[in-house]
Amino acid sequence: MLIVDKEKCIGCGVCEENCAFGAISVEDGCAVVHDTCTLCGACVETCEPGALHIEGAAKETGVELGEWSGIWVVAEFRHGEIAPVSFELLGIGRTLAEQRGVPLSAVLMGSGVEEAAGPLIASGADLVYVVDNPELEHFREDVYGRVLEELIRARRPEVVLAGATAIGRSFIPQVANALNAGLTADCTQLSIRSEDGMLLQTRPAFGGNIMATIVCPNSRPQMATVRPKVMAPPEPDPARPGEVILVELDDGVYRSRVEVLESVRSEQDNVNIQEVEILVAGGRGLASEKGFELIRGLAEELGGAVAASRAAVDSGWISYPHQVGQTGKTVCPKLYIACGISGAIQHTVGMQSAKTIVAINKDENAPILDIATYSLVGDLFEIVPLLTRRIRENRGK
Ligand SMILES: Cc1cc2nc3c(=O)[nH]c(=O)nc-3n(C[C@H](O)[C@H](O)[C@H](O)COP(=O)(O)OP(=O)(O)OC[C@H]3O[C@@H](n4cnc5c(N)ncnc54)[C@H](O)[C@@H]3O)c2cc1C
Repeated sequence: MLIVDKEKCIGCGVCEENCAFGAISVEDGCAVVHDTCTLCGACVETCEPGALHIEGAAKETGVELGEWSGIWVVAEFRHGEIAPVSFELLGIGRTLAEQRGVPLSAVLMGSGVEEAAGPLIASGADLVYVVDNPELEHFREDVYGRVLEELIRARRPEVVLAGATAIGRSFIPQVANALNAGLTADCTQLSIRSEDGMLLQTRPAFGGNIMATIVCPNSRPQMATVRPKVMAPPEPDPARPGEVILVELDDGVYRSRVEVLESVRSEQDNVNIQEVEILVAGGRGLASEKGFELIRGLAEELGGAVAASRAAVDSGWISYPHQVGQTGKTVCPKLYIACGISGAIQHTVGMQSAKTIVAINKDENAPILDIATYSLVGDLFEIVPLLTRRIRENRGK
């Protein structure tokens, strides 16, 4: 509950200006809190007289901050190679480590992974903790979570970074929860506050309308995930020196309730929609899996790939790796053609920075048209074949 200390409130109205929800206003010279308050704390931070506080917010973590030191990157090893996002994290991790004057370490978990430590050192890691065990061959979130938790408890890094990939998203929150640590998901920027060395974790908030910078002043480690393609990978230097530490853990750590029977790589996963310059995306308006054949033809003519809204993925018309949006991928192609996609905020946060957006929709009030560079209002089953044919003809010329 947000409490106003009437003795301290001077009725300046700064809280009112800073509330995104219109949940606090100044009445008769004193702040009054309304039902729409979400306890986001924005007003508390901006209240200079200190007249506002959230009851029960100050959490006693019992953590001695000075005992935690070093920047860690969780290196993701899948299908025999390190995920590119791990190198991107080493790039930003190196900058943070230098600002803090501490080593940058990578954590590499898997079976038969020791060889993969070299590229991590070449890309900036001073130390690589390798946990190499047959029990880690397949990703199981309970086991991976426990291994990482054990390492963190034993070595106490101040910052832990991981990729906001399907794997990172599934087990990093579990580790943060077990450690009673803060976790900021999907950061787009990370830096160190010079006054006190805190990690400043910036990410879009309120559907991408504002950028929020989050700090974890009381808990350790400070944990953050970053989506692939947000940070630039460093140029690898194969001559960089670094140390590999092989970590042995008790057998109990590897005990799991999950048995992996088979790991199958989806055929459709081969195209990474984050790496292509032209995307033709389909939504519920395509009506069926067959509708995707239509836009696949357009994508092929343009030399692009097919993406989708969550509604299409949930309907089983196309696989999840094609999903764009809040719970899918963030893409930034040169051209994004949205076919039968309404433009819900959870979709547009994943594609709104595309250079050119073409929206094909039969509803002239569909929100996607508000962000489209070009809008084609009409039936996609008429427009897409016409467009495909015209492009083919022009290419022929
Ligand atoms: C926590 C959370 C996370 C989410 N994450 C994502 C995410 O990552 N990605 C995502 O996409 N969504 C996400 N969603 C879902 C999102 O809110 C929308 O429900 C979803 O994006 C809608 O998909 P759609 O636009 O394909 O379908 P709809 O909203 O049903 O829109 C279909 C559109 O097709 C048009 N249409 C229909 N027939 C035709 C035709 N013949 N010709 C032309 N136009 C036609 C309609 O006018 C309509 O605008 C999330 C939701 C939540 C709550």
